[in-house]
Amino acid sequence: MSDKLEFVDLKAQYRAMKAQIDERIQRVLDHGQYIMGPEVAELEDKLAAFVGARHCITVASGTEALLISLMAMGLKPGDEVITTPFTFAATAEMVVLLGAKPVFVDIELDTCNIDASLIEEKITDRTRAIMPVSLYGQCADMDEINAIAIRHGLTVIEDAAQSFGASYKGRRSCNLSTFGCTSFFPSKPLGCYGDGGAIFTGDDALAQACREIRIHGQSARYTHTRIGVGGRMDTLQCAILLAKLDRFEWEIGQRKTIGSRYHTMLAGVEGVRTLALRPDRDCVWGQYTLQVEHRDALTEALQLQGIPTAVHYPKPLHLQPVYATSSFPNACPNSVAAAQYVLSLPFSPYLTELDQQRVARTIAASGA
Ligand SMILES: *Cc1c(COP(=O)(O)O)cnc(C)c1O
Repeated sequence: MSDKLEFVDLKAQYRAMKAQIDERIQRVLDHGQYIMGPEVAELEDKLAAFVGARHCITVASGTEALLISLMAMGLKPGDEVITTPFTFAATAEMVVLLGAKPVFVDIELDTCNIDASLIEEKITDRTRAIMPVSLYGQCADMDEINAIAIRHGLTVIEDAAQSFGASYKGRRSCNLSTFGCTSFFPSKPLGCYGDGGAIFTGDDALAQACREIRIHGQSARYTHTRIGVGGRMDTLQCAILLAKLDRFEWEIGQRKTIGSRYHTMLAGVEGVRTLALRPDRDCVWGQYTLQVEHRDALTEALQLQGIPTAVHYPKPLHLQPVYATSSFPNACPNSVAAAQYVLSLPFSPYLTELDQQRVARTIAASGA
């Protein structure tokens, strides 16, 4: 049997950038400004330039990015936020945490992103925001979503935790709506070595609100003008990302190449449906996820060959116990179907063609 594959090979990435990362970490240890050190502003400037947004505010995690954005727009108890149930829990969770209500709109089965054509019918006089998720690294129909938001005076928050580096009609994910929120969790397209995240916005007042909320609502030291959180990103994590940024464009290229290669290798394999890719945007493959008829059997066949897999996600949020009482169990049939069929394969910018062939061969042989 061949070697065990990594699901996300972070060690290969570290080996490729060890000198630069170690040096950046050492510099922080030498200056000792672990909280809000100079690397924080340096990273924010570089990330803002990278996505083309006016403002970048780094925060403690992707979850915190969503929370702080919702606080900055003034989301109140009783308000409604339209989002997808086919996502990581954090998306809807932060809405509930502020006493507001997530209103779930079903996905398109072929991209697994929110179906923009179903949004408008869910808007009520309590709706304040739309929160699309750029799932698996491909943006949702942001132009259509923004147009709806403008018609109804709503805020749009892109949950771009899986899509940092992706492009939509020539613009970067995170720079497509009122707010773009991303995560630097280690396995995300741009990952640090712990928790981290960022908020992007073009609005000066909202950016200022986010900066204040990040440090307990302080508009000046020990002047608390609003309620905030302890939501800063560590200097060390910022330093690690600064080292990784130098290679990020190359890594995005690798992600697209490796994703296309999986697509080609798996085209026409019985029982396998690869993700649909829209022609006006790209996908950075936050996860390489496909839909398979017989998921359990295939998972086992891959496991036997030392190939790990994951399921993003096994149950849509509207069927999770904590949300089930407040929604209709069968209201989002595509999300229910996707949860049954999706399977994520090993993926990183360092995955070799040989290993991909091994994965593809095992899938083809298993009669998925
Ligand atoms: C990872 C993720 C988050 C949360 O990010 P953290 O940094 O882990 O808090 C939110 N939404 C989606 C879609 C994610 O994939």
